[in-house]
Amino acid sequence: MRTLKRGSRGNDVMEIQSLLKKIGYSPGLIDGIFGLQTEKAIVQLQRHNGLVADGIIESNTHKVLERFLLGYENYTVKSGDTIFKIAQKYSINLELLLTANFGTNPLALQVGQVIKVPYAFDVVDTNINYTYEIMERDIEGLKSRYPFIEVGVAGKSVLGKNLYTLKLGNGPVKVFYNSVHHGLEWITSPLVMKFVENFAKAYATERPLRMYNLNDIWLNTTIYIMPMVNPDGVDLVLQGLQQTNPFYDELIAWNDGRMNFGEVWQANIRGVDLNHNYDASWQLSKQAEPAYGVNGPGPTRYSGEYPESEPESKAVADFTRHHDFKLVLAFHSQGEEIYWTYQDKTPSQARRIGDVFSQLSGYSLSETTGIASFAGYKDWFIDKYCRPGYTIEVGLGKNPLPISQFSKIYQDNEGVLLAAPIQARS
Ligand SMILES: [Zn+2]
Repeated sequence: MRTLKRGSRGNDVMEIQSLLKKIGYSPGLIDGIFGLQTEKAIVQLQRHNGLVADGIIESNTHKVLERFLLGYENYTVKSGDTIFKIAQKYSINLELLLTANFGTNPLALQVGQVIKVPYAFDVVDTNINYTYEIMERDIEGLKSRYPFIEVGVAGKSVLGKNLYTLKLGNGPVKVFYNSVHHGLEWITSPLVMKFVENFAKAYATERPLRMYNLNDIWLNTTIYIMPMVNPDGVDLVLQGLQQTNPFYDELIAWNDGRMNFGEVWQANIRGVDLNHNYDASWQLSKQAEPAYGVNGPGPTRYSGEYPESEPESKAVADFTRHHDFKLVLAFHSQGEEIYWTYQDKTPSQARRIGDVFSQLSGYSLSETTGIASFAGYKDWFIDKYCRPGYTIEVGLGKNPLPISQFSKIYQDNEGVLLAAPIQARS
């Protein structure tokens, strides 16, 4: 993490502002601009933690913030401590404390033993630009609190970022949700990450979520989630083009000489549109390119040189081939629509299940037209497996959707995320 002080700007500043607010300080607007209010909040935090109160975030202040960002601290058991006293001291739910320390006997704590104490606030923030780095830290924070979440890596992006997968459940019927094939559509990443957090928290405390019995879902189904298929694209959109990017000159050329990627870039870092890079009528996608003004790598709709030419789409396809998914959801933005067909391969139950999703979300069931009908992930899944696959276009407006739409998007889709594994069993 870089040094942050008054005048600093960026997604990291925004993340810190959101954190400060979450833990009871008043940093002012959560806008990514380190102003006087944010500085005052940092000074206060430094005083409360016995640090030099200079309002500058570096080494020691970083360490304190890092703990809060991960959402837990390591607590050394002292004489006279019981698990109940520790829960009370930190105002946290006893079940959540026990969950984070699975494998530790709570009635036999030893003085000097280190246990994990999750803080009484959520890990996943839904009011900030959701970069790869933030997602990665959230995954670590969630895994620490809820050790039953299985974290995997399905592959690497072109620039070497991990294509993370999260697994909830242990049942025989498997479903797969993926988000952010397209860089501008990063809001779909906190959508599934928040779902993982809410699911895990309710499951750990044996509470239903929207009346759904999570234990039943856990025992009978397994939900696999890839929260960011295109991390390089997301970071190009949110962080801008960095000097160190190995495709620096090419990217500017592919973007018609423009330096601004934040409003246009859907592709991966090699200018391939990952959702046009799957082996389902890929030739038709390729042939349609000129009609859309596409003649090589660029911000959108370039299908690549051959299907699965990109490590990201290949990783998603390999992951799918290695699991026996009964149903898949691919999250995109925007339109409040659910795409459910692929040529004559759409399975018979897809309409009925699509109607359920449509009712739960308020989104309409739609059929794709033109270049969007080919070479997408759900097209490929339906084509290869003849099982239900859906593209869900969340939110409404111009991409990238503002994070202020998050709570409606989440409310619209939580029911679908919970119903999908149950529908997959029918
Ligand atoms: Zn999309």
